[in-house]
Amino acid sequence: MNKEIKSIRGMHDYLPKELKIWNHIEVILKEVLTSYCYLEIRLPILEKTEIFQRAIGDITDIVEKEMYSFNDRKGNSITLRPEGTVGCVRSIIQNNLLHKQNNKFWYLGPMFRYERPQKGRYRQFFQLGAEVFGLDTEDIDLEVIILTNRLWKRMGIDSHVILEINSIGSKIDRFQYTKELVCFLKKHEHLLDQDCKRRLYTNPLRILDSKNKDVQKILKEAPLLSKYIDISSSNRFKNLCQMLCAHRIKYKYNSNLIRGLDYYNSTVFEWKTNKLGSQNTVCAGGRYDSLVQAMGGKKTSAIGFAIGIERLVLLTKSLKIFSEEIEEINIYIIFIGDNNKHYAINLSEEIRDLYPNLKTFVNFINQNLRKKIKNAINSSARIIILIGDHEMKKGFFVVKDLKEEKEYHLLKHELMIKIQKTFQLK
Ligand code: ATP
Ligand code: MG
Repeated sequence: MNKEIKSIRGMHDYLPKELKIWNHIEVILKEVLTSYCYLEIRLPILEKTEIFQRAIGDITDIVEKEMYSFNDRKGNSITLRPEGTVGCVRSIIQNNLLHKQNNKFWYLGPMFRYERPQKGRYRQFFQLGAEVFGLDTEDIDLEVIILTNRLWKRMGIDSHVILEINSIGSKIDRFQYTKELVCFLKKHEHLLDQDCKRRLYTNPLRILDSKNKDVQKILKEAPLLSKYIDISSSNRFKNLCQMLCAHRIKYKYNSNLIRGLDYYNSTVFEWKTNKLGSQNTVCAGGRYDSLVQAMGGKKTSAIGFAIGIERLVLLTKSLKIFSEEIEEINIYIIFIGDNNKHYAINLSEEIRDLYPNLKTFVNFINQNLRKKIKNAINSSARIIILIGDHEMKKGFFVVKDLKEEKEYHLLKHELMIKIQKTFQLK
């Protein structure tokens, strides 16, 4: 194939076969979020570059090297969204949504980051994001975690994910802590990898998040962030841990868990799996109590999380818990001779009127009858309906039930009853 017309590196097509599992996951996500009264919100894919720079932080990986930014025709810098929280906050401020009682939102869509593509890491990927505004006690932290836990249960992956939590305190707490961390790490600078060396001078906290085993060894001796956490964050965290136990949600306290975006504070969490190699986080979130105000809104506490859909799909596939054998076609209609085409179309429309959830296919391909029947059998349809001159004259249809391996001659109303019974429709 011509190299020029391949998709861009790290950006993939989502093909129909794979989308079955996607749809299955999306249905569960939407059902569960709705059951907690979250409302859907749809946001632009492009935003002004400056809102990401300000909110995510200038010296984060995302802003430093992962954003797809370019100038529009007027020379304004715009960016393909690398995440959804910032756009969501911009929207709720702009549309004045904060005075409403129910301030829980979800969105699903593509995000873009210029990263090194590998399994579970792409340049275009889908996130389900959820954001809650205006609730400031740890009860909502708990509910958000319970909600995500329910998602994994519904998907049948709950025994393959583990919750890690931490409290990262306030900006001031982290500022004080960073000074001590840098002091400690400088003593070991020669043992750090290139990435960590760079971060030592740009964003030292991110070193805690390093996936490099040698760096992790050094970090075992590092000062602890928990010692710097303000009293209100640490009380909140203690209460949250107690409530998680009371609700039988297992968690691991990870004192090195920090988030890659500047706007987080206090409670942070990630759901990880050991089935996906180093791309092991399927869901990540936390509180961001100062972002709304920093972006020009009134002071509003907030918490949110984002789920990487590709990683959920990979996990579900690796566990082989999803049967892909969903019938693509339920009823396959074959007409013999062009003069019977309109009967076939009419019949298919009547079936769709009566049973809108069935998948009805009319074969318009110019093939002989044997080939058409062969195609119908290969399509794994349950029922084939044959419409020929003879049958039309006599007013019946030839109906083959491929599962029963039986053939019927049925009048129209008998055919409809047969369909209803076969597919157990009301
Ligand atoms: P990581 O440490 O894996 O880079 P992150 O901290 O950058 O993750 P977030 O910005 O918190 O990730 O995004 C939330 C979730 O979105 C991640 O936990 C992951 O499941 C998914 N995700 C993030 N980046 C990518 C990507 N490039 N490709 C696929 N999924 C991604
Ligand atoms: Mg990342």
